[in-house]
Amino acid sequence: MSKSKPDLSQLSPQTRLVTAGRDYAEHGFVNPAVYHGSTVLFPTAQSLHDRSQTYVYGRRGTPTSRAVEDAVALIEGGHNAKMAPSGMAAISTALLAFLKSGDHLLMVDTCYHPARLFCDGMLKGLGIETTYYDPLIGRGIANLMRPNTRVVYTESPGSQTMEVQDIPAIAEAAHKAGAIVMVDNTWGAGHYFKAFDHGADISIQAATKYLVGHSDAMMGTVTCNAETWPRFKDAYEEMGMFAGPDDMYLTLRGIHTLDVRLERHMKNALVVAEWLRARSEVETVLYPALSNAPGHDIWKRDFKGASGLFSIVLKPCREEAVSAFLDELSLFGMGYSWGGFESLAVPFVPHRTATTWTAPGPCIRFHVGLENPDDLTADLNQGFAALRRNA
Ligand SMILES: *Cc1c(COP(=O)(O)O)cnc(C)c1O
Repeated sequence: MSKSKPDLSQLSPQTRLVTAGRDYAEHGFVNPAVYHGSTVLFPTAQSLHDRSQTYVYGRRGTPTSRAVEDAVALIEGGHNAKMAPSGMAAISTALLAFLKSGDHLLMVDTCYHPARLFCDGMLKGLGIETTYYDPLIGRGIANLMRPNTRVVYTESPGSQTMEVQDIPAIAEAAHKAGAIVMVDNTWGAGHYFKAFDHGADISIQAATKYLVGHSDAMMGTVTCNAETWPRFKDAYEEMGMFAGPDDMYLTLRGIHTLDVRLERHMKNALVVAEWLRARSEVETVLYPALSNAPGHDIWKRDFKGASGLFSIVLKPCREEAVSAFLDELSLFGMGYSWGGFESLAVPFVPHRTATTWTAPGPCIRFHVGLENPDDLTADLNQGFAALRRNA
């Protein structure tokens, strides 16, 4: 007799995250081993000829990659997943898998900026045309669909400015016109936004952010539904995509604590966002989890929670005042990426081509980490004192 295995499909999301990937652990260890491997030996000439074993070559999958792929597909609720060496590699691989010369892509105007550079650079050079669309277009996307539109790409909430997209309405129009829908699901981490339940065909994440969760590795994930999986899997292999074993392991390790981390990020972010909303220096807080904030209604309808990333628009002030604010902060570091345990603040100027950004003052994006929120608001209070001294 040995202990029975849990049926993950019957368990709650929190329990799934904790047990995900366990099937690949051996010798009684809780965690699976990290396989560093290229060559896999075959015991007989016949088995080499037939490739009749689970693992055939490092790039084609290892117990380490399978464990994290299973875990990611489980979080996302998708059919199967693949890992890429960065979030940006996941985005480019997914787009290249479904677009060819002469095709048309509808890209959200609030996409992650390097994704825009990929469309305007590499895709354009390959003869693939991109049209940027208003993130709040909803079912109006139907008017932009062309006979050669193959992919409608969404990101919700949008990078930096946090517009929440009506993905079900967009997906309905896209599918009617024969296109597939991709979602950059990094903010909701697959745990707080179930992309496949809302009509997406492919969910992409910069696992660098919340899945890894500790700012110590780069990773991307592409999760597919059953229809898109075969083509994506072929393209992934044709392009020679894979990811490093240690970084895949760190992703799996992060996944086990995703639920508790996200819950605390949200709790802290709500405290900090409410505090910011009450400040006279702040024009608007762009955090969909706040009541009356832009996008709150769709967020409430479609999301199960909010992560720790949001932005603010300041009342008009001098650039020197914003710099003084940022320089004064000691707990909010200044740097790119987010999703780790630590708080961050970066100024930004939105880049838009399909819409116009009309907010009156400078913008700052915050990532609220796992520190005590009272310490964070005290830090921000110091920052605002410096801002006023330089106003
Ligand atoms: C960071 C980020 C990416 C890219 O991830 P990398 O791992 O840095 O390449 C993609 N999409 C969003 C929304 C991101 O925030």
